[in-house]
Amino acid sequence: EKDPITVLVTGAAGQIGYALVPMIARGAMLGLDQPVIIHMLDIEPAAEALKGVKMELIDAAFPLLKDVVATTDAVEACKGVNVAVMVGGFPRKEGMERKDVMSKNVSIYKAQASALEQHAAPDCKVLVVANPANTNALILKEFAPSFPARNITCLTRLDHNRALGQVSERLNVHVGDVRNVTIWGNHSSTQYPDVNHATVNTGAGEKPVRELVADDQWLNTEFITTVQQRGAAIIKARKLSSALSAASSACDHIRDWVLGTPKGTWVSMGVYSDGSYGIPAGLIYSFPVTCEKGEWSIVQGLKIDEFSRARMDATSKELVEEKSLADQMDDS
Ligand code: NDP
Repeated sequence: EKDPITVLVTGAAGQIGYALVPMIARGAMLGLDQPVIIHMLDIEPAAEALKGVKMELIDAAFPLLKDVVATTDAVEACKGVNVAVMVGGFPRKEGMERKDVMSKNVSIYKAQASALEQHAAPDCKVLVVANPANTNALILKEFAPSFPARNITCLTRLDHNRALGQVSERLNVHVGDVRNVTIWGNHSSTQYPDVNHATVNTGAGEKPVRELVADDQWLNTEFITTVQQRGAAIIKARKLSSALSAASSACDHIRDWVLGTPKGTWVSMGVYSDGSYGIPAGLIYSFPVTCEKGEWSIVQGLKIDEFSRARMDATSKELVEEKSLADQMDDS
């Protein structure tokens, strides 16, 4: 049997955490033959609820789950962690400005960066889910300078999967036959879902999504806004934010990163920009990536038209603003 991999989930008593931990324990994140140890961290007011989640994990008798730690102590939570999924964060409440959420999260992510840097495995892979995800990831990166920058990522896979889902619904094809959509930029409403290189496996070969949809007007307007605003649509319908789809896509993100993307297929991940596609280096920006042997690489050489260029730049501009806001808080 393989040695267990230790996975940290922060904010584990929250609704994404509650959907995520059983998926990890069932092997959806690291494979059906991979034993796991789950560390769950939450804050003091959620300690009792977190205990309840631990009880349910025990009651579910998952064969792959070798141990569970439920704690409010960041040091204990980070000890020996190989994969860290950072879901805990201060939620944006009604009337709060971006700046207010940001200042709460800057201090949370600074503290957690230190705990991770000191106690997690040195090659720990980090996925930030809590919003503003890209900027939280950047803060984490800056306050855990000994971690390789390439090990710090943020979640845009949910947006990616939503884009696949919209194309699949529109064309009435199976979602598993749609591939190579791209989410560029920030996990926010400025993100740019791009289908210019996406294809569908039709049985008679791969066909471009643009050709099959044959409605540029829809692709350039409604498709984009539907993906950008899907989170809000779910809140309206469920009176709660998306949780199962966020948890599922967090598993997809780590699984593909660790185990590799299928040949000819790319996925979207928020990663540390090296300046590819003219995006400022040093931002955490969502790019199309392929993964092999536990390493991601940005897909190179995609043709970018004017329409895409403007949108890719608009979302990077927002990230530059968020970064400078975070830097200001950092000084104070
Ligand atoms: P959720 O589990 O619903 O969401 C957790 C975080 O993920 C939020 O920041 C949320 O952002 C973000 N998120 C990113 N993508 C998505 C998406 N597609 N859909 C929904 N959320 C998304 O929040 P809960 O309030 O249920 O749980 C949060 C937990 O974190 C609680 O248990 C709380 O105790 C804990 N917490 C931990 C802190 C810490 O570690 N210091 C600080 C504060 C809370 P958004 O708010 O924009 O929806």
